[in-house]
Amino acid sequence: MLQVKNVTFGYSKTKVLKAVDFKVEAGENLAIIGESGSGKSTLLKLIYGEYDLKQGHIFWKNEEILGPKHNLVIGYDFMKYVTQEFDLMPFITVEENIGKYLSRFYPEEKQRRTEELIKVVELEAFAKTKVKLLSGGQKQRVAIARALAKQPEILLLDEPFSHIDNFKKQSLRRSIFKYLKDNNIACVVATHDKNDVLGFADQLLVIHDSKIIEKDTPQHIYNHPKTPLIASFFGEFNIIEPFGIVYASQIEIVEQSDLEAVVKHSYFNGSNWLIEAEYKSESIFIEHSKEIESGQDIYISIAK
Ligand code: ADP
Ligand code: MG
Repeated sequence: MLQVKNVTFGYSKTKVLKAVDFKVEAGENLAIIGESGSGKSTLLKLIYGEYDLKQGHIFWKNEEILGPKHNLVIGYDFMKYVTQEFDLMPFITVEENIGKYLSRFYPEEKQRRTEELIKVVELEAFAKTKVKLLSGGQKQRVAIARALAKQPEILLLDEPFSHIDNFKKQSLRRSIFKYLKDNNIACVVATHDKNDVLGFADQLLVIHDSKIIEKDTPQHIYNHPKTPLIASFFGEFNIIEPFGIVYASQIEIVEQSDLEAVVKHSYFNGSNWLIEAEYKSESIFIEHSKEIESGQDIYISIAK
């Protein structure tokens, strides 16, 4: 189990993180969200032992994670960290990068393991390609496979799919998160993409103003967003009194009701339309199956 106990940290006098406290069980997937600059990467670096802590403690099982003052070589065998930069070896191939830390004394096992990981990150077609010839997204995938090569107990991922295009993202996410679950590898994922969280994370932490403002399952946080900031992470929302925060998907257009609005614009959204309407002289947003002409009167009902 990872235990982050009451950690307060700043690079200078200003604190980036205050009294951060949480646990991650073996095999569990924890997602961390927060605006840019909220301290997500800093928290991953602290867990990895890149900085010395003045306040608080971090443990993996019974071992305390120590910073550079106490640990000549940063990092531990049981933990791997895929940074936003990925530092690979550009002049050797994808399979050589992944196999680099596997033992040469068992060539068949090394080959089998390398092939397995190349499959997990869906890079079969590039196994023999030099890394310098890959795109940013492909490099990111090699970095993840390399981090998994020696089977860590916990993996830290910093915006792991940010460079990967939408054509690949969905299946890659499923493949990697399934691999981690199947192998009981805990992971901590910093992200700003709700699709990295919903459907994969067991727990979600929200960081704001240097503090954890929410810690629960993604389902619970989605269904009970405490603040507009949290709702905005999940999608289009409105603040409508007396209902409070209402997602665009929670408003239905009905035949008749007490709540009347006028359509201002319809935005095509793929599987549905986002209807912008004026309600009590403010704009509200409604998810709807069809386009509606501007100027049309509608009745709405709120299902919360
Ligand atoms: P996030 O990953 O959520 O975008 P970061 O952890 O990178 O946030 O940054 C949190 C804050 O710490 C920001 O204000 C950033 O400018 C600052 N910061 C990050 N790294 C350093 C550093 N090495 N030295 C000084 N300040 C830093
Ligand atoms: Mg970051």
